[in-house]
Amino acid sequence: MSGTSGTGRRAAIIGSGPAGFYAADCLLKAGLTVDLYERLPAPFGLVRYGVAPDHQTIKRVTAAFERTAKLPGFRLRGHVEVGRDLALEEIRRAYHAVVLAYGASSDRRLGVPGEDLRGSHAATAFVAWYNGHPEHADDRYDLDSERAVVVGVGNVALDVARVLVRPPIELAGTDIAESALAALRQSRIREVVLLGRRGPSEAAFDQGELADIVALPGVEVVVEGDVNFEVPDGAEPAVRKNVEYLATLPRVPSATAERRIRLRFLASPVELLAAGERVRALVYEENELVQSQGRSVARGTGRKHELATGLVVRSIGYQGLPLPGAPFDVKRGIVPNLLGRVLAPDATPVPGLYVTGWIRRGPTGLIGTNKACAKETVDQLLADLELLPAPTHDPAALDAVLAERGVNVIDYVGWHTIDSAETARGQAQGKVRDKFTRVEDMLAAAAKA
Ligand code: NAP
Repeated sequence: MSGTSGTGRRAAIIGSGPAGFYAADCLLKAGLTVDLYERLPAPFGLVRYGVAPDHQTIKRVTAAFERTAKLPGFRLRGHVEVGRDLALEEIRRAYHAVVLAYGASSDRRLGVPGEDLRGSHAATAFVAWYNGHPEHADDRYDLDSERAVVVGVGNVALDVARVLVRPPIELAGTDIAESALAALRQSRIREVVLLGRRGPSEAAFDQGELADIVALPGVEVVVEGDVNFEVPDGAEPAVRKNVEYLATLPRVPSATAERRIRLRFLASPVELLAAGERVRALVYEENELVQSQGRSVARGTGRKHELATGLVVRSIGYQGLPLPGAPFDVKRGIVPNLLGRVLAPDATPVPGLYVTGWIRRGPTGLIGTNKACAKETVDQLLADLELLPAPTHDPAALDAVLAERGVNVIDYVGWHTIDSAETARGQAQGKVRDKFTRVEDMLAAAAKA
C-alpha cells in the first residue's frame, strides 16, 4: 500500500544500496512512508554487486536491510530506472521529499595511452562481472597471461588481486557468478603486481584486508622497491598499522610460492603497450614524494620500467554520474549538498531534495559509514518536514504511468521470490546462492510470486 503514515508525509529514495536502506530505516522510524526505487529487480546495490563473493560475512548486513523492509510503510519499487522509466520531476511531484542514494556507478580513468586496449579494464567492471551484475554478465576477461597488473592500492584493488590469486575451489561455494568461476578455473595468472603511486603510509587499503591475503595458502605477498617504512608523525592509527605491517613482509620473492602478489609503491602507469589490439605490457614510472598544500603527492622521476602482462585492471576509484533533473558537481562527481540538503547552482537548498551515500560524499568509506551519513541527511529532512510543499500527485498515479510505459515493477514479495529461487539453485550446487545474471530471468522468477 502506498500513502502516508504517522507524520502524514511520504518520501521516495532513489537507490537501494546501503545508503538507501539506512535512509529508509531512519525515515520509517520517524513515521514517514517510504518508496524505495531501484533500477534492478534485486535490491542491495554494492552489497550484492560490489562486496567480494569470499566476503560473505560482510554481505550478511542484508539481514538488517530485511528488517527495515518489514517496517510498516515500506515499499520496494524494483526494476524502475529513474531518469528512464520515470523522470525525477515526476517522482518529486508525488512525494514530500526525495532522497538521492544512487551511488557512484562508473569508474575513473588513468588517462594514459593504450588504456582502451583489449585486456585493460576498470576494477568496477571486473568486480561487477565476478558478482554476476546483469550489465557485466557477458563480459570476457583473458586470464591467459602469467601476470596481471592492478593499478591502485585501495580495498577494491585488494579484492581484485585476492580473487585472482585465490584457489578457485575456495570461491566455488560462494555466490560468485558461474561464468567468472569457470574463467578463474582456467586462469594462468600466477602473479599480480599492485601499483601504488605513493608510499606505504599513503596506502588506502586496510591492514586486515592485506593480512587476509597473506594468510592464503600458497600465496606470497612481497613489498618491492626502495620504500620508506617510517611512520609519519601524528599518523592515524590505521596508517601506523599499515606501515608497520608492510615492514614485516618479505622484500624479495621466493622461488617456491605458487602464487604471488607484488606490492610496488611509488610507481605510476604511463603507457600500456600493445601486441595487435591487446595489452602486452605496462610501462610505469618511478615516483618520488613531494609535499604540496600539506599533502604528499607523487612526482615522476623519469625512470621507467616495463612489466609484461596481458591483464591490467585500474582500481583507482568509482565515479558518480549525474541524474537528469538533479544538480551535479562535475569536478567532484557528487550531487552538491550541505549536510545532505541538495543545493541548486545558486547554493540555495532545493526544497524536498536530499542526498546520501557515495553520491553525496564521494566513493569512500565502508558500508557502515553510510549509516551515519544517512542519519545526518534524514535529520535535515526531518527538520524541514513542516515546511515541505505537499505533493500534487499520488504515488498510485506513478504506478499507473509505469504500467502504461510497460514497466514490470518488482515489489518486495517479488524480490523474495527471486531470492528464494537463487538460494535454492545455489543449494543444489553447494553454493550460498546462484544469482540470476539476466534481468529477464529475475523477472521470470519474480512472476512466480
Ligand atoms: P580508494 O580507497 O579511494 O582507493 C583508490 C586507490 O587508487 C588509491 O590507492 C589511490 O591512490 C589510487 N589512485 C587514484 N587515482 C590514481 C591514479 N590516477 N593513478 C594511480 N593510482 C590512483 O577506492 P576503492 O579501493 O575503489 O574503494 C572505495 C571504498 O570502498 C573505500 O572506502 C574502501 O575502503 C571501500 N571498500 C572496502 C572494502 C572492505 O572493507 N573489504 C572492500 C572494497 C571497498 P592515492 O591515495 O594516491 O589517490
